[in-house]
Amino acid sequence: MLPQPIKNFIDLFAKFPGIGPRQSSRIAFWLVRQGPAKIAALRNSMEDLERNVKICRQCFFVYAPGRSDDGLCDICRDPKRDQKTLAVVEKETDLVTIEKTRRFRGLYHILGGVLLPLSKTSEQDEKIVKLRLRALEERLKNRNFEEVILALSPTTAGDYTAQEVARILKSSGLKITRLAMGLPRGAEIEFTDEDTMVSALEGRK
Ligand SMILES: [Zn+2]
Repeated sequence: MLPQPIKNFIDLFAKFPGIGPRQSSRIAFWLVRQGPAKIAALRNSMEDLERNVKICRQCFFVYAPGRSDDGLCDICRDPKRDQKTLAVVEKETDLVTIEKTRRFRGLYHILGGVLLPLSKTSEQDEKIVKLRLRALEERLKNRNFEEVILALSPTTAGDYTAQEVARILKSSGLKITRLAMGLPRGAEIEFTDEDTMVSALEGRK
């Protein structure tokens, strides 16, 4: 019943985070209805992402490389950031939420996902997280950090991941704190408002 290009689009977009087949079909029909200009704008935006955005080699946040590309994002490159405090977060949007509070001046490490007990994590995600955990260990070895804040959501997956990270970092001798204690159980960092995030940051232990 549906033309093949629509089916292909729906299959592709249904795999995006937070989007299922129903939303995906709505987007497909909406785009076709909007006409070629909207579709071209989307295509340009995609190409812009592909060409002009890179992932920081140190913390894995995104950045737009300037003329001299040292592989680092704006945060990692900023000498005014506190080089002794590192916040470990699940994803980019969590970093953005914490940055909005303007209370945290340290550096970040983005895991790119969470770990789940009994390997319930998808293989692809688990691979990324494990690679980034190894990168974290290296990073902590080579730099003089004093505190690592586990800024992971107080959810089952967040707790499990925090335990795993704490276990890996145990021998490092660093002060390890958990951010999310002021947050309600089940709260996702991404959706936490600024005031709650500020008290979570200040109440870390
Ligand atoms: Zn960075």
